[in-house]
Parts: sequence; C-alpha cells; structure tokens
Amino acid sequence: MDHINQTKLLLSYITFFFLVISTCRSSDTIAVFQNISDGETIVSANARFELGFFTPGNSKNRYLGIWFMNTSSQTVAWVANRETPLTDNSGVVKLDSQGNLTLVNGSGKVIWSSNSSVYGSNINLVAQLLDTGNLVVKNGNITNSDSYIWQSFDYPGDTFLSGMKLGKNFITGKETYMTSWRSDDDPSPGEYTLKFLMVKGKYQQVYIMRSSVIETRIGPFNGISFSGRSLLTPGPSYPPYVGYMIVSQNEMYFTTVSKYNTSTSFARTMITPNGKREISLLEFSKREWTTINSLPVDYCDNYGVCGPYGSCNIANSPYCGCLKGFEQKNSNETSVDNATSGCKRSIALDCGPGEGFLNFSSMKLPDTANAVYKNNMSLLDCEVACKNNCSCTAYANPNITPGGNGCLLWFGDLIDVRVYPQNGQDLYVRLAASELSDLKSSSHKKKGVIMGVSLSVAAVLTLSSILLAFYIRKKWKKRSDADIEGRPEKSLDKDYKSSSHQMGSAAVQLFSLLEVSQATDDFSADNKLGEGGFGPVYKGVLEGQVIAVKRLSKSSGQGLVEFENEVICIAKLQHRNLVKLLGYCIQGDEKMLIYEYMPNKSLDSFLFDESRKSLLDWPQRYHIIQGIARGLLYLHQDSRLKVVHRDLKAGNILLDRHMHPKISDFGLARMIKEDENESNTKRVVGTLGYIPPEYAIDGLYSVKSDIYSFGVLVLEIVSGKKNRSFVHEDHDDNLLGHAWRLYKQGRSVDLVDECLRASYSASEVVQSVHVGLLCVQHRVEDRPNTPTVVGMLGGEGSLPSSPKKPAFFAPESEINSTTSNLPLLSSSSFNGITLSQVDGR
Ligand code: AMP
Repeated sequence: MDHINQTKLLLSYITFFFLVISTCRSSDTIAVFQNISDGETIVSANARFELGFFTPGNSKNRYLGIWFMNTSSQTVAWVANRETPLTDNSGVVKLDSQGNLTLVNGSGKVIWSSNSSVYGSNINLVAQLLDTGNLVVKNGNITNSDSYIWQSFDYPGDTFLSGMKLGKNFITGKETYMTSWRSDDDPSPGEYTLKFLMVKGKYQQVYIMRSSVIETRIGPFNGISFSGRSLLTPGPSYPPYVGYMIVSQNEMYFTTVSKYNTSTSFARTMITPNGKREISLLEFSKREWTTINSLPVDYCDNYGVCGPYGSCNIANSPYCGCLKGFEQKNSNETSVDNATSGCKRSIALDCGPGEGFLNFSSMKLPDTANAVYKNNMSLLDCEVACKNNCSCTAYANPNITPGGNGCLLWFGDLIDVRVYPQNGQDLYVRLAASELSDLKSSSHKKKGVIMGVSLSVAAVLTLSSILLAFYIRKKWKKRSDADIEGRPEKSLDKDYKSSSHQMGSAAVQLFSLLEVSQATDDFSADNKLGEGGFGPVYKGVLEGQVIAVKRLSKSSGQGLVEFENEVICIAKLQHRNLVKLLGYCIQGDEKMLIYEYMPNKSLDSFLFDESRKSLLDWPQRYHIIQGIARGLLYLHQDSRLKVVHRDLKAGNILLDRHMHPKISDFGLARMIKEDENESNTKRVVGTLGYIPPEYAIDGLYSVKSDIYSFGVLVLEIVSGKKNRSFVHEDHDDNLLGHAWRLYKQGRSVDLVDECLRASYSASEVVQSVHVGLLCVQHRVEDRPNTPTVVGMLGGEGSLPSSPKKPAFFAPESEINSTTSNLPLLSSSSFNGITLSQVDGR
C-alpha cells in the first residue's frame, strides 16, 4: 500500500471513530452525527449548546430541539418539530444519503424533515451542532459556511441568536421572522411574531404583531440597533451585539455579531408567548439569565396609541398629547389617551415659502412605513429635500453613529411618536409659516424669563471658571512652551515607516495606505465628498472617528514639497476656526491628508446654490464672517508662525455641524518670518477673483494679500454672489465695483442677498460692506491689518476711514492681459479652481 492510501485509511478510521463517539450521550466534543435516538444528546464543541429530545414545562409531548447548556433551568433555543410533537420516547433523527434530516416516530413515520437534499459524488455528508447554536448539514470536506446544505438558523423560532438573519429574500419572496411559542408548555407557533419592515425603498424597523395587528413598533434602525425604549446609545451591555442591516438588490436582512458570546456569557433575543421581546444575557458562572432589555414596558409602547400626530409621554398625565402645532382632532374626547382619531394641524399647510420645520428632540421617530430613505445626505440637504416637496411632513437623520448621516422623509401622517426621557432622536416636523412664528415668539418670551433667573447663577459660575481656567492655562503654558522650544523640527519620511510624527507642537499620525483604504471603503464613489484643485476628498471612519481624506491626485501638481508644507504648516496650527489635520499617509505614489470631517462641507455649497442659500440666514453669515476673521488673526499674528494662506475663498471655508467656519486647504500657504512683511514669488498661485493686484502684477504677497481675499469673501457672503461671475444689468462692474457704487450712494444694505431681504440686521450689513471694501483697497497700506478687521467686526471703536475705489474695479480680464509681468494664470484655469502652478519653496 502506498503512502497516500495509508494516510487515507488512517483518516477514515479517525472519522469513523469520531462518528461513533459523537452518537454517545453527552460525551462528544465534535458534535457531528448521523443519527440520534431519544435519550441521546449531542453537545457542541465548547459545550454551549446541546441537541436532543426534550419535554417542555408540564407537557407530555417530546420534541427534537437545541437548548443552552450551563443554565439552571432548561432554555430551549430552537425546536424542529414545533407543530408535530412526538407522544412517546420513540423518536429518532437521521441524516440520509441525500443530506435530508428526518425525524421518525416508533412506527417509522416521518413527522419532520429538513427537506434538504444535495446531489453529487465525493460528498462527505455530516450533520453538526455548532457552538453558535446552529445545526447544520454540510459537506464535511468544505468548511465555508456559505456552502451549508441546510441550517437551523434559516428557520428561527422564538429565539434569535447572533449569526441568524431576519429579513426577506426578494427573489424567492421568503420572509424570515420570529414566532412566539403558544405557551411555556407548547412550542407550536403562537399569536405573536417579530417581523421586520422589509419592503424595498422603505426604511427598516421592527414590529411585534399579534396575528395581523401591530402591537408594538421597535425602530427605526439607528445604525447600531433598532431604536426602541430609551436605550438608544450603546451602553456596556446594550445592545449585546453589533447589528448590521444588509440591503442588496436581492435581499434585505438584519444580522448581528455578538459582543458577549464569550467563554463566560452568551446573549439571546426572544419573543415570549405573551408578546414581549426580551434581550437577555446568560452568565455561565451564575447559570442564570439576566434580561437587559424588554419591550413593551409601558403604555406608550402600544403602537400608535395617541393616533396620528399625537405624541405619547410617559412622564405626563394624560400620557397622550398633540405635537406642537397640532390640536385634538375630536374635541368631544376628554383626553386624547385611547383616542385613535389623534390630532390635526392647528393651521393648515399651504406650501408657501415661509413654511418650515420645528425641531422635536428626544423622540421615538414615527412609523417609517410611509417614509422614504435617502442615503449619505446631510441634515441640511435633508431639510431642503423635504422643503422642496409639499407632501413631505417631516424629516430626520435616523443614524446615531458618529458622523453618521442619511435622511428619512415622511409623507403623510406621523404615527407612533413618543417622547423618551433620554437618548431620543431629533425629528423635524413641517409647520405653517404663521404657526412657526407664533411658536418662536412664545418660546423667546419663555427663554427671557428663564434667562433672567439663570444669569445671576451663571455669572458666579463663569467668574469662578475664568479664574480657574486662567490658573490652569498659566501652568500649562509654562510646560508646553518648554516642550515646543526644546524639540527640533522634523520633515516627513518619504515612506510609510514609523507610526507617528511629532511636528512642532502637534502630533500628526501617519497611517498606512491599507488603513486609509479600509476607512474609506476602498475610496468608494459613495464616500466621495467633493473634489478640489488637488484631488478628490473622501469620507471615512478611522479608529472610530469620522474623517475626510484628501487624496492628492498625481496630476495635481502638488509635489512632495507642497504636501510636506501643508502637513507641517497645519499640524502646527490649532484654532477653532482652522480645520484640524488628524494625520496623513504617504506610501508609494500616494499622498493623503486626513482631516476632521465637516458635515456641512464648504461655504460655497450654500452661498452660490439657489436652493440652499436661504439656509444661511443673516446671523449665521455674520457669525461666519467673524469666525473667518478670527482664524486669519490666528494665522497672521497669534500663532507661533506667521502664515499667509494665499488661497482664501468660499470653497476653502468648511462648516462644522453647528455651521462654525473653519479655514482649510493649506497647500499653498507660506510661513513668513516674524519681522518680514512682504515676500516675493515668481509664480502667482491662488484663485481668480480673490487675488490682490500687487500679487497678480508683481508677485508680492503678504498678510495683506489674505486681507484682500477676505474682503472679497465678505462681499460674497453678504451678497450671495460670486465676485468673478457677477453681472449687473446696469453696468459692467464686478462685485467689488458694484458694492463700492452702492456704498457711495449710501445704499450698502441693497447689496444684501435677495433671499435675506425679509430679515437681516441693517447695521451689521452696512458694517460688513464697509469692512469688505476697506479690505479690497488697491494700495496695500490702505487695507486694514488683521487685528483691526477683527476689532471692527466685533463692534470695537468706530469704522476708520472711508473706503476708496477698490482694486480690480475694471473687469479682471483687461487687467490680466495688460498689466501683469508674471506668468500669471492660464485661461484654462478660470473656473474658480485653485491654480496649481506652484513655485518651489
Ligand atoms: P478641497 O480640496 O479642500 O477644496 O476640498 C474639495 C471639497 O471636498 C470641498 O469643497 C468640500 O466639499 C469637501 N471637503 C474637503 N475637506 C472636507 C472636510 N474636512 N470635511 C468635509 N468635506 C470636506
């Protein structure tokens, strides 16, 4: 006998040996079997589950099932013959040669079958109980779980275990859901089911149903789990799993990976015979189950109990009320509790321009059966989408994961809304214009009273915090100054070697290409946020933080020098109005910058977009102007370096979730010496429309170049118009010329964006136009310095001198072609994109 045949024989002996011992009562560790008779059991490899025959509660019937081990009282996880019990101990389960598991009684009658079969040769059929609680029929030669011939996880009963899938296959139409037992003594299907809303295009949530009636709604899916009750955010033990909602063309299902199926504990979710969904943990050492979440628990968990537009609050009496802006529909009812008629609008909608949304916080989001979901949309875009559709009644972001976005739009009545004491979600409900202004003015009045009381307390607290902060700051400053001065500056490694770099005062982490690629889902198109002059920008999640990755394209013209420049420059700068660099990646040809993620993207996406500009009201615009000025002051004066940004423009102002502005894109920035006021370059970089004359013509740049760009930006923010593409029916002036014209006529307020005409502060607009015009003066010395700009915008002192005629009053094309001595700007770059011609540093 040759060597191979000897090995084969030895293996078949071993297999036979295991098959023999696996059919012996509770002694197996392989859990593979061909048949089991009543009285024998199979134990999974790590003794988590046991398979065999059992009798539930006070019943006399016998069932083939799987139960948990290590419990003080038997806890069954799955039953094969739920509807066809055995009445004696004669049952035997067998695996036949086609891969079908059959359960036969004493007279040889098949009373349950897996109805599975497989054809082919060289198949080593085995049935095996896995440690997950899954009973599988498989080809023993293949380990891949996708190739199971049959598995009990496809047929859940009243218990959901991690690894199961609940949902729907759109091809076969098969729905997988949980069904309660009839009673503790009877595992046959009871009245209650736990079903998922699995309709293509509808957003996932869970219903507990009694026959065909919805009793309780759990959901919607919040990115981690199904929201329900107040435990929306993950705590130490809730949810005891990581949930995944898988949505594809062919199927849609929910599955979980357990956090707790360890050597010490195990988690399960079940639907009880009386319709409760319970999530519990088994601690092996205690042999007891602890219920960590249960539903329903109170009156408000009854589905739609307050009717349409009603809102249930368990802290109130009566529990039911109407959402603000709505009133009881049927005034004959003494309370809205139990009134299915619910509420109606106090003022009807007319789809006029003043209609808007009222924010209800800490809510259980309404039934999503009549909602539509849009992926990857910021909250502001969601508002625009809802506002633009007159039938949209509400919107929300269902996703609570860090930086998670997405947009739910409701059409029709809002049903099953409740208020949670904590951890609820924000819901934005459409209301009539007059209703909104009434509600706003009454809330202002209330705030006034509350503020009066809290101000005196706040004053004391603030004073003590300032003193404390001053003391701590002094101590820290001493330490960090010593730290900074003592450390030599480093330049970047050319390859990915070390794990982090200390640059001046800031640590910037170096990430591998693999890490960044995984974080952005392989730079998927879905994650693309935008594209700037140097390449595309992607959203991602790295080490639990939401990030934006700028992937410098090879054609960007930004070489290693500029890349290093941006990393070193921004790493040293930290200010609330500058975007924060979290790390970078440099590997092979790839160069990437990793920033904190700004959910509202760039200022130009609001200012110059007709459908979004009205979302930036005047107070926000003024706050943005002030924020940019403070960021500039830091760059020009307050940081350790003196930095000229050289590409300040609306596209390089990012907005965080509170619409705070952050200056970004330091690829063209230059550090200049403390005592240096002006520098010279042979090549002009920047963006047309924002470049001052001395820079365009003589290549001279200084902090006053940024002041010029800032002036242009201020006038753009006030007017909502782009300087470069500005046209006016009465004259050929650009935006700067037009602003000056209005200023001279004492009509600066007329520059304000038309969409703000209903509400703006005239004095702030006049002041902003004045400051903007001073900043765009032709002569550098006529432009204010940065502290003066910040002071003027902060209302400190009166505005200095009147502005003169601004620079580039005439259309730029004339100036470019006639006056510049430098290799300025190629006409192919005239589209607002940063020019990538860069000079060596
Ligand atoms: P940039 O190359 O910096 O001009 O970026 C191009 C576009 O990508 C911007 O206009 C933004 O829409 C988007 N973007 C850049 N950085 C971020 C960020 N940190 N967070 C969110 N979006 C960003």
